[in-house]
Amino acid sequence: MNDLVTMTASQLSALMASGQTSAREVTEAHLAQIAAIEADVAAFLSVDSAGARRQADAVDARRAAGDALGPLAGVPIAVKDIFAYRGLPTTCGSKMLDGWMSPYDATVVKRTLDAGMVVVGKTNMDEFAMGSSTENSGYQTTHNPWDLDRVPGGSGGGSAAALAAFEAPLALGTDTGGSIRQPASVTGTVGVKPTYGGNSRYGVVAMASSLDTPGPCARTVLDAALLHEAISGWDPMDSTSINRPVPPVVEAARRADVKGLRLGVVKEFAGEGYQPGVMRRFEEALVALEGMGAQLVEVSCPHFAYALGAYYLIMPSEVSSNLARFDAMRYGVRVGDDGARDVEEVTALSREAGFGDEVKRRIIIGTYALSAGYYDAYYGSAQKVRTLIKRDFEAAFAQADALVSPTSPTTAWRLGERVDDPLAMYRADLCTIPSNLAGNAAISVPCGLSPDDDLPVGFQIMAPPLADDRLYLVAAALEGALDDARGGPLLAKLRSSVTGVKQPTLARQILDLAKEVEA
Ligand code: GLN
Repeated sequence: MNDLVTMTASQLSALMASGQTSAREVTEAHLAQIAAIEADVAAFLSVDSAGARRQADAVDARRAAGDALGPLAGVPIAVKDIFAYRGLPTTCGSKMLDGWMSPYDATVVKRTLDAGMVVVGKTNMDEFAMGSSTENSGYQTTHNPWDLDRVPGGSGGGSAAALAAFEAPLALGTDTGGSIRQPASVTGTVGVKPTYGGNSRYGVVAMASSLDTPGPCARTVLDAALLHEAISGWDPMDSTSINRPVPPVVEAARRADVKGLRLGVVKEFAGEGYQPGVMRRFEEALVALEGMGAQLVEVSCPHFAYALGAYYLIMPSEVSSNLARFDAMRYGVRVGDDGARDVEEVTALSREAGFGDEVKRRIIIGTYALSAGYYDAYYGSAQKVRTLIKRDFEAAFAQADALVSPTSPTTAWRLGERVDDPLAMYRADLCTIPSNLAGNAAISVPCGLSPDDDLPVGFQIMAPPLADDRLYLVAAALEGALDDARGGPLLAKLRSSVTGVKQPTLARQILDLAKEVEA
């Protein structure tokens, strides 16, 4: 395995800028890593070696010509298959869109390409982003690189696994209920759900439009910030896009300072269902932050207890409406079109064949919640709870500059363990969903390995809307405190802690093997 794949995006960027390596070399190293490891991890639904090489060569040519290039030019990136991208099929993890080629690029993808990043492939995901383990993919099972028998989280498990397996240093995700942060948490990577409206939804296959938020995935906080800055900002193609400057996230990630910052520990995010090892690492991270000058305050958000319930009414309602466009006439599979059946029958047969069980479950729930006579009772009540949750956040943010919690109550569970228990699957998002309902910004950053099972634990930081930079201040400070390279007394206590730059087990084994072969 090439050393280039264990580097961060910012390290690669510096090496390329100084001429010590090229975008082509960096791309080849990652393509080789993908070829070596994909049989085990299965993070990608499609890989575009030829396209990646072309993009890399174009960056090298521009550099040779003396063009001014952005900080991420030539850095490989993996794109969740929910984003429209002309270069590869866009399936959204569903058989419904098998082989579908988008005629345009999503805004976020376009900005990625404009910044000179090299798209290596599209990553696996739960079908239409519905799930917490990527096991609902219509195509394949993605394995967690830390332990191949475990889930990589979901719905963006492919992007998170690709990062953890060193197949790419950067990835794009979307977060509707936790699909960036929860996979980051269970794979020891960094994932950010920006403020709703901060990142364009144009060209993102819609799941629940009032919640869907594209965002950056990376192995380090600074890399996530660099990607955040590259893809964010106003887009006239998305009516919910905010026309305000992007918060100074890169500057915050570099400053990494929590001195004087009030951090609100959400008291409701603890107790039954929270793995002891997760809580232990979370509490140690609090101690670390306090040691760096943060002030801890306890905050109460009583309505967070109802967030999951509200989400599982609002989200399916929007899903049932958004997924009505898959009618077998405009996109995707068409079944039973033999000339004898009418449109309605063909649509019904095609939807029966194209959608998986979880997607059908949510369409049925959503259709019911929106039906005449039930609308006020279900959808209307859920929207009121959503307002109460927003008010809880407002009250908490009056007491604290940012809120903190574990990202997910447990570490990665075994493949298959929750597939027959939707509620257990839904509970993985207990701590992430409130920020989607309220629209504020949140990040997951690794805070060590759980002493229970030696698997990564994620630390969540939540900031008020448009204060995304605060996430990076805290996350970068924590990452720095837990980083092996810095040493210090804290490290003895957090002996097994990991930052994204440390190597996951599988990748570590491959590195060792490669060294043996070279020797
Ligand atoms: N796991 C959650 C769900 O299944 C979140 C999905 C998401 O954020 N896309 O709905």
